Amino acid sequence: MRLLSRTRTVAIDTAREFGSVGVEAEDVGYAINGRNLVDGVSLTVRHGEIVAVLGPNGAGKSTLLGLLTGDLTPHHGLVRIADRPIADYSQRELALRRGVLPQAVTLSFPFTVDEVVRMGRAPHAGLAYEESEDEIVARCLAETDVSHLLERAYPSLSGGERARVSLARVLAQGAPVLFLDEPTAALDLKHTEDVLRLARARARKGDAVVIVLHDLNLAAAYADRIALMARGRLVACGAPAEVCTAPLLSELYGHPVDVMKRPGTDELLILPSR
Ligand code: ADP
Ligand code: MG
Repeated sequence: MRLLSRTRTVAIDTAREFGSVGVEAEDVGYAINGRNLVDGVSLTVRHGEIVAVLGPNGAGKSTLLGLLTGDLTPHHGLVRIADRPIADYSQRELALRRGVLPQAVTLSFPFTVDEVVRMGRAPHAGLAYEESEDEIVARCLAETDVSHLLERAYPSLSGGERARVSLARVLAQGAPVLFLDEPTAALDLKHTEDVLRLARARARKGDAVVIVLHDLNLAAAYADRIALMARGRLVACGAPAEVCTAPLLSELYGHPVDVMKRPGTDELLILPSR
């Protein structure tokens, strides 16, 4: 669907065609002080799928995400969102096309939760949808289980509550390509599963979802594909069962890892050897 804003001549592409390219990196590289933080990475994430990016601390996951979202400009290679180079998008077009949950969201001004989530709707100013703005905000607050925090000041929230409110803001933005950097790092077991189920639901509706995780079991359970990074490079990328092998993971993390199946199922269980 292509809408044309009445207030401005911005073309708004809200397409979520299953299997079409959500975001694509072609041989991207990024260096600081001569050190390659991301080196020759090519990755395509399509509408309808979740790709989880995993790897040891400092592997370059957040830097890669920065390149895919357009927050960083690659020193080498090209990133496309849908079929257009990311540099060709205006800020507003980009905000309508892709949503980003950074690893750490710092907001020192005491915005309320309601205000923070409404910020996600800013790119839609002047546009109208079937669902009203209030309905969208209420739905996203409920999906992330933060409706009860509506009037609270964001800086007064716990780490896990902040993470869920930030996710609500990104969901409210409603962009068809989603980038989530360690969205579950501060969350308890229930809220962790909730977030992955939300990501799954968005992918089923046609979003392309890129999610940085540390938990191999979560990635194996929810992601369609896992991209493993080490020292700035993509080491492997494929279906969880292809990528999650004991030799590969043991080598990647520098610690022996056991891979087994949950009894009676095909579900992978990945545990450090002890
Ligand atoms: P990950 O998210 O996989 O933990 P990052 O992408 O954040 O890793 O960082 C990759 C490497 O690049 C790390 O060693 C990190 O210390 C380094 N790095 C990241 N940003 C900068 C920066 N602005 N200046 C120097 N080094 C950086
Ligand atoms: Mg990181």
